[in-house]
This record gives sequence, C-alpha cells and structure tokens, in this order.
Amino acid sequence: MDNASLKKRDLAVLWHPCSQMKDYERYPMTPIKRGEGVYLEDFDGNRYIDAVSSWWVNLFGHSNPIIANAMKEQVDKLEHVIFAGFTHEPAIDLAEQLVAMTPEGLDRVFYGENGSSAVEIALKMSLHYWQLAGKPEKTQFIALESGYHGETTGALAVSDLGLYKAPYKPLMFDVMTAPSPDCFYREEGESWHDYSLRQFEKMRELVEREHKKVAAIIVEPLVQCASGMRMYHPVYLSELRKLCDEFDVHLIADEIAVGFGRTGTLFACEQADISPDFMCVSKGLTAGFLPLSAMLTRESIFQAFYDDYEKLTAFLHSHSYTGYATGCAVAKATLDIFQSQPVIENNKVLAQHMAQATAHFADHPNIAEVRQTGMILAAEMVQDKKSRTPYNWKERRGMRVYEHALSQGALLRPLGNIVYFMPPYVITPEEIDKLADIAWQGIQLATKD
Ligand SMILES: *Cc1c(COP(=O)(O)O)cnc(C)c1O
Repeated sequence: MDNASLKKRDLAVLWHPCSQMKDYERYPMTPIKRGEGVYLEDFDGNRYIDAVSSWWVNLFGHSNPIIANAMKEQVDKLEHVIFAGFTHEPAIDLAEQLVAMTPEGLDRVFYGENGSSAVEIALKMSLHYWQLAGKPEKTQFIALESGYHGETTGALAVSDLGLYKAPYKPLMFDVMTAPSPDCFYREEGESWHDYSLRQFEKMRELVEREHKKVAAIIVEPLVQCASGMRMYHPVYLSELRKLCDEFDVHLIADEIAVGFGRTGTLFACEQADISPDFMCVSKGLTAGFLPLSAMLTRESIFQAFYDDYEKLTAFLHSHSYTGYATGCAVAKATLDIFQSQPVIENNKVLAQHMAQATAHFADHPNIAEVRQTGMILAAEMVQDKKSRTPYNWKERRGMRVYEHALSQGALLRPLGNIVYFMPPYVITPEEIDKLADIAWQGIQLATKD
C-alpha cells in the first residue's frame, strides 16, 4: 500500500468532514499509516509532528501505550452494555473522578457520545429545568459572537459561524448573541482585562433586558477555539457568573476544547474561580482514543427532575452508546495520567518554551498579534498590520502555511489566516523549536506577495 493508491480509493467512496471535496484536487490528502507520540507517519514513510493534536483531541501522544492498554483490557472484559437499567465500573469510576476534578458543585454526570451531544444535553436540560421550576417562559439562549459549540442543529444554533450555519437556518431556533470579549479588538494600550470587562457591559445590558426569557448563557471559557483561537480575560467569566446568579440564568461552560489542561489549568473556569451550572467536556477526555463526552451539572438541577414516575419529569435523552464502557475506561486511564504525573506543571515549561520560540513572530510585518493562553498559541496573519486589515479570504494564505508545513514534516492546519499550535503534551522543547521554524518559514512564504 502507498499514499497514491489509498488517495485514489478514498476519493472514490468517501466524503470528508469540513472539506470542499473538490479541494483535494489542489490540496491532496495525507493517508496515515501509524502514529507514535507527537508523530504521524504516512505510507511513504514521511513523518509529521501533529501540532494540532488531531483537531484538539490528542493529549498524551498517538497510540499512547498506557491508554491503549486500558482500552485493550476493557474490551476483553466488557466492551459496552445498555446504560438504562444497567451500570458498570468504568462509568462509575469516571463519574466519581470527574466530579472530584471539576469545579465545586458539579456533582452529577450525564454521558454523551461527542462534544455536540454534550451541548445538546446541556441546552435541553436547562430548558426543561425551567419548565419544572415553574418558569416555562425561559426558553431562549444567549451565546457569544464567534462562539462554536458543534455541528448538530441545536449546537449549531448557538454557534456563530456564518458559513457553516447559513444553509441550515430554517432548522434552527433563534439565539441572542452578545459581542465577543475577544481581545484582538482591544484599543492600543488597553489591557485584556479592561477590554473583556468593557465587552461584558454589553452582555449585562442584554441580560438585564431579556433575562425573563433566558434559560442559559453558553460560552467557551477563555478561548473561542474554532473561530480562530480568540482569547479573553477570566474577568469576563467571573462577572458572567455573578450576572447569571443575579438574574436567575444558567451558565453553560463548553470546555470541550479548552478542558483538560489546554489553557494552563485543568479547566479554564478555574482561572476565573467560578463554577458553571452545566459543564460540557469531550475531546481530551479520552486523549484522542474514542468518542465520548460528559455533561456535568448541579445536584439541585438533578433534583428538579427526580420524582415519581407518574409525574413525567424524567430527562429522557439517550444515545445508543450513552455510558460507553470502553470509552469510560479510556477516559479513566487518561484522567489517571493527570493524577500520577505533573502534567499541568510540565505544561507550564512547555508553554513558556512555545512563547520563547515564537517571540520574534510578533515583529513580522504581516502578523497582527501572537496570543497565548497556556498550551494554545496563535499568530494572526493580516494584510496590513497597523489597521489590522485582514487578507482577502480567497487568497487562502493559511493553506500556504499548511502546504509548506506538510512538506517539512509538520501538521499545522491554520484556521483561516490564523496559524496556531495546540500540541499533545508529550511534545519536547526541541520539537517545539522545529515547529516554530517551520511555521515561521511558512508564514514568510504565505505573506511574500
Ligand atoms: C469540537 C467542539 C465541539 C463539538 O464537539 P464534537 O465532538 O466535534 O461534536 C463543541 N464545542 C467546542 C468548544 C468544540 O471545540
């Protein structure tokens, strides 16, 4: 088998995600044979550093032997069992551990199959809760501009991604949108703190005006990843928590991308010292091995649904693989690594190294900003630095970086014109240096004319 024959077979039968399939004529795909640590290897023997953790899921390297073993052991015992009326150790172990690790007050775990389903569960549960709590008029959601919460219709409805969403508008409920606290747009000399606080005022106005109708506010804490690693200050979250309390509105924290250490703390909410009413986790939960998600909530919300059968107050949501035993065992093995190794501490050193290795990027005439939150670092290419005028999107400059990086042995998949690193935590300082070199060359090429 080689790259060429696999590409041909693939193109004859497959339809890839997030892709204009015709694009593969211009940007060929890369068939991967195996993965080890931060490296991916194709069928022609080329190796690539996975700088994007395979869409932000991988935490401890590809084919990590500890996690692989946990998975093998579990499938030999019990791969899965119906989760209504039955239970098993992996689901219980994992739930106990999640409750212990997440912010205070999140004491109930509802499993889903992927990030989007965790978001749907949170939205449905919040809405349903208000009906049970005698406030059926609370039926609307507030989301942030530039937010992303997944691709299923409910999750997409609360996302702000025009192109991804536009064709499906007729399927979706209306959502109120508050301006993003994204600090890219702060004034010269203005701090992240002050800008995020200034943006918060618009959220306050919206909530003061509409709160009677609002069930919940959903946010990606600290980093709006999909819309371009857009970052903001924790003060926004601490103010938002107070606002939600003041006006009886739920706060849903979508930690699907930022959870499990990406922002420098185990969960991003910790940096604002807050506890949401609902928290969604997925992606890193299984370190990139299996699809699984968990939605955590408060005991008081659970209790609102807890009643005699005839009252018909049950939360009836289910998926075929709710409480997937193998997924839970893999997630447990992943969380055990956080317990047994100083992951967060080590990441501080790696994050510092990423900052140093890319410090000169900010001086590039076409880089408007290099921003970083923990293990996420992004450089935004623009046509004009002073006015921050973006490049014409049709020029697809980010794809030039992508192509160059592949030719040099790195998987760097920019978001539009934003080049970013979000690597597995097993990356070494030397590999970070190599990535920085490749990214720098790619940026030079992409901005040349
Ligand atoms: C990826 C992502 C989702 C959706 O998760 P899927 O597993 O792709 O359905 C939701 N929210 C955020 C913040 C994400 O990054």
